[in-house]
Amino acid sequence: MVLFERAPAKINLSLDVLGKREDGFHEVEMIMTTVDLADRIELNTIDTDIIDVSTDSQYVPNDERNIAYKAALLFKNKYQLHHGVHIAIQKNIPVSAGLGGGSSDAAAVLRGLNRMWSVGASLDELVELGATLGSDVPFCIHGCTALGTGHGEKIHTLASPPSCYVVLAKPNIGISTRHIFPKVTMDTLHHPQTDKVMRSLEEKDFGRLCHYIGNALESVTFSLYPDVRRIKDKMLQTGADGAVMSGSGPTVVGLTSHFSKARRIYNGLRGFCDEVYVVRLLDRR
Ligand code: ATP
Repeated sequence: MVLFERAPAKINLSLDVLGKREDGFHEVEMIMTTVDLADRIELNTIDTDIIDVSTDSQYVPNDERNIAYKAALLFKNKYQLHHGVHIAIQKNIPVSAGLGGGSSDAAAVLRGLNRMWSVGASLDELVELGATLGSDVPFCIHGCTALGTGHGEKIHTLASPPSCYVVLAKPNIGISTRHIFPKVTMDTLHHPQTDKVMRSLEEKDFGRLCHYIGNALESVTFSLYPDVRRIKDKMLQTGADGAVMSGSGPTVVGLTSHFSKARRIYNGLRGFCDEVYVVRLLDRR
C-alpha cells in the first residue's frame, strides 16, 4: 500500500521568550501558521518489520537520525505494531531555516501511519506522541493557525489570518534553534505584542497584523548574522506591508496583500538571497 502526506512549512507571526525554566527549556509564546511550501512524504508498506528512509536532499540524513524515522519508530512502539514502512521524503522546505521542516515531516509520518495502518489514534494522542519528538511537532499535527505556549508544545487554535501573499527569503546560512536560545539574555529582549497579533487575527485586520508581527529572537540572530537584518530591511523597502523572522531564522517572512508587490519583493531579493519563494497561507477558514 502507498500513501502520500503533505508536510507544510510553518511560519511564525510572532515569537516571544518569556523566561528560562528550571528544566533548561525557555518558556515561549508564539503564533504560527502554515504556508503552501511543503515537503512530500510517501509511505510504502514493506513486508519486513523495518523502517527505511530515503530523501532527495543532501542536507538531511537518510537513516535513524532522520526525525521522520524517529516518528515512525515511536508510533510502532506506542501501538506495538510489527509492520514495515519505507518513507520517501521529497524535501522542498529549506533545511535549518526556521520553517519547521523536520517537525512537519515527523507530524506527516504520524498522521500517515495512523491512516495507513488504521490505528485510529485521536488528534490528541498524536499530539502527545509528537511532543516527545520536538516542540514544533504538536503544532504541525494541528496545522492550522495557533498560539503555542510552554516550550511551544501546548497548542491553542486561533482565528485564521486574512488572505495575503507571503514571501519567504532564506540566505545561505543554516541556523539551529539550539544554537540561538543559549544566547538569549532576558533583559535585552524586545518583546512582540502577542495579544495585539491575536486581536488582529480575530478582526482579520491585515494592516494591524503587519504592524504587530514580531520575533524576540531577531536581535540575537541579527547580531550573529547581520545579513538576516538586511533581508528584513530590504523586504520592507521593496513593498512588504510587514516582515518578521521565522523561528530562530534565518528565513524572513514578508506579508503583502497584492501579488504585484510580492513579485517586486521577490525580484528585489533574488540574487541577494539563496532561496526566495512567493507562497500563500494554507489556513483559509
Ligand atoms: P528548528 O527550528 O527545530 O531548528 P528548522 O526548521 O530550523 O527547525 P529543520 O529543517 O527541521 O530546521 O532541520 C533541523 C536539523 O534536523 C537539520 O540538522 C537536519 O539535518 C535535521 N533533520 C533530521 N531529519 C530531518 C528532516 N526530515 N527534515 C529536515 N531536517 C531534518
